[in-house]
Amino acid sequence: MSDLEAVLAHVDVQAHDYVARLMEYVRQPSISAQRIGMDEAAMLACDIISERLGMEAELLPTAGFPCILARHGPIPDKPTVLIYGHYDVQPPEPYEAWLSPPFEPTIRNGRVYARGVGDNKAQHFAHILALEAWHTVHGSFPCNVILMLEGEEEVGSPNLAGFVREHRERLAADFVVISDGHLHESGQPVICFGNRGFVSFELHARTGSRDAHSGNFGGVMPNAIWSLVHLLGTMKNADGYITIAGLHDQVVPPSNRERAATDALPVDLGAVQSTLGFRAIDRPEDRPYYDRLMFHPTLTINGLHGGYEGEGSKAVIPATAFAKCDMRLVSGQTPEYVMRCVADHVHAFAPDVEFRPLQGTPPARTPIDSPYATYLIEAVRAVCGSKPLIQASLGATLPTHVFSTILGLPTFLLPFANADEANHAPNENISIDCFMSGIRISAALFAALGRSIRMTRKDPSHDPDNLRSG
Ligand SMILES: [Zn+2]
Repeated sequence: MSDLEAVLAHVDVQAHDYVARLMEYVRQPSISAQRIGMDEAAMLACDIISERLGMEAELLPTAGFPCILARHGPIPDKPTVLIYGHYDVQPPEPYEAWLSPPFEPTIRNGRVYARGVGDNKAQHFAHILALEAWHTVHGSFPCNVILMLEGEEEVGSPNLAGFVREHRERLAADFVVISDGHLHESGQPVICFGNRGFVSFELHARTGSRDAHSGNFGGVMPNAIWSLVHLLGTMKNADGYITIAGLHDQVVPPSNRERAATDALPVDLGAVQSTLGFRAIDRPEDRPYYDRLMFHPTLTINGLHGGYEGEGSKAVIPATAFAKCDMRLVSGQTPEYVMRCVADHVHAFAPDVEFRPLQGTPPARTPIDSPYATYLIEAVRAVCGSKPLIQASLGATLPTHVFSTILGLPTFLLPFANADEANHAPNENISIDCFMSGIRISAALFAALGRSIRMTRKDPSHDPDNLRSG
């Protein structure tokens, strides 16, 4: 029996106990947005790591909630993996939509239901249990491991970049693994090499000092909502193309290997259409499904506000209006540059409209041929019997740029949760099969790293000196 086989046999025997301990772990609320249970949750995670893994877990302060950091090693010549997760959860409201209370974990149909169980507690707990299994069976770990748990992911990670800069030395690793999000919709395991970035902004129009009678002043006083509608119409055309000058200049198109991996991803557009209830896919029509989510920026109007929104009619010319928008950014784009393009566009087409930038997060992309990916692929194949799907980027945004840019490390998403985990929604859950498979994949990843020799030369594209910090 190999070292890994012994660990996996132990995991099988412990399955019942692991699920019971997961339920204890998620019973503790940790709602960062509402500042509920955060200290207790951080202490709970620290105690588990220190007592069960033989690693010394530290609670390190930030300007907000603390980060947990634990390190094993160094074993010379062995690679170091940095595993990142977050112990905070989304607010559980609306309570009445939960079939069982959000912090009273309940098993139904082979799933554990609780707030935060999929996003992200069961996923980082799977890594913790895999380490524990190695420690219990062999008294040590086969490679170097750094565990990092953040407490502010669900409120936008405002202190993560600062923390990573401050503790750069303690976070010195060869690559980063983040188990968050979910398996591919087809149920197959997937490895994501990055994610899109994000910017948000508001457009404010004022065309008078007060609303006016639409008869007495109709055709005389300009309408603030029309000002915004016309401006927005110059930013994206009816064919679906964003028409802001310069916006696409930074975009790095997919490499041949990214192209090939993307073309191999299964798509069930009909399932997406029936879930969301839309008839025709958004324009432009001729774009492959995953190209839309990975290789093209978006411009979304999140809300358009102004005038009378109550019952019945009110014959009024609105003097003020505002729009809330977001954009998803793709590889190569920076929030600063994109915001400048939008600001210039607004200034050119509607100089009286005020542009108010809000948030910005850069995109992140690890090269698809990164040698570290082979460890993850090997681990998935050892446990699942087949290779994972390779996804160049997530459509959504995560703070991975902090690792890929500030630390200059190849960063991978290796999700364990089921696609219908209902994260951020009522009845959040994880299937027990997915949780157990996550523990096994994590154990196999450590084994794969243990069999290898540390690569001495880093990929030059990930040399921190070659990258702006950011
Ligand atoms: Zn989340």
